Amino acid sequence: DTYHFYTQDMNARALDILRMENSLQRALANKELSLCYQPQLDLRTGRIIGAEALLRWKHPKQGMIPPDRFIPIAEERGLIVPIGAWVLETACRQLQQWQREGLRPIQMAVNISALQLQHYAFTSTISRILEETGVSPTLLELELTESTIMEDAEQMISLLGELKKMGMSLSIDDFGTGYSSLSYLKRFPIDRLKIDRSFIKDLTLNSEEEAITRAIIGMGQTLKMKVLAEGVETEGQLSFLKQEDCDAFQGYLFSKPVPAEEFAQLLRDEGQNT
Ligand code: C2E
Ligand code: MG
Ligand code: MG
Repeated sequence: DTYHFYTQDMNARALDILRMENSLQRALANKELSLCYQPQLDLRTGRIIGAEALLRWKHPKQGMIPPDRFIPIAEERGLIVPIGAWVLETACRQLQQWQREGLRPIQMAVNISALQLQHYAFTSTISRILEETGVSPTLLELELTESTIMEDAEQMISLLGELKKMGMSLSIDDFGTGYSSLSYLKRFPIDRLKIDRSFIKDLTLNSEEEAITRAIIGMGQTLKMKVLAEGVETEGQLSFLKQEDCDAFQGYLFSKPVPAEEFAQLLRDEGQNT
């Protein structure tokens, strides 16, 4: 009986994944995907320096499905390659749109999956998108994870070097949660480390998280990389980061990820305050 129960459970899960895969395949064509943008701020000046583009999926029946649920499935079957290209293109178009509206230029950060980076046409896809949208590569930042770049690190050094030569910035997302080889880290042309939200969330006096956060900031300074803290929700966290001389932050304290029009308003409001 136990055996029977177990397989039934597994079948249900497999079916779930299969269903999601099928509807995800149609999501692009059906325009169910959209992007939200979360502001990234300079910690010293408090000014908006960038936006992180974050994918949203509104399923016609199930409503909003969080990226943590559908991205792993999109990655499993390679669907992340066309979806990721759509994200890059949409984010770049949005950036151009904001500039046409007269907003000051900011950087756009886009999350890139390992599979996208490993795809043979990745650099040519990016070149085409930059050319078609007219976005300067210096305004585009690619967010990679530790596992993405540490796997086959030697090959990554040359690929990342190529992307850097094209003018883009590179950052490591969720830093501290994966396995980074420090000797490789200094050989990668990385501009920025993003301290994972889990460390920021539990920042309390004399905690392990406090020590880790301080260590990452110090390491960034030594390696001449900027450091951004993710998931800042309280003034207390912000003042600790300031005191440690962290460069930038993003988090609910300033703003959640918001639709493009709301983001534009945040930028305009800022202009009025300075
Ligand atoms: P991530 O790239 O680390 O993005 C940051 C996540 O933290 C976002 O979740 C954001 O909404 C959330 N966040 C930001 N500030 C706070 C805060 O103060 N408190 C809390 N509790 N959360 C905060 P989201 O949008 O659900 O995205 C989850 C993950 O899905 C992303 O983590 C990223 O790994 C992945 N993802 C999202 N969009 C894309 C995409 O276009 N392509 C790829 N490959 N992955 C994506
Ligand atoms: Mg990210
Ligand atoms: Mg992150």
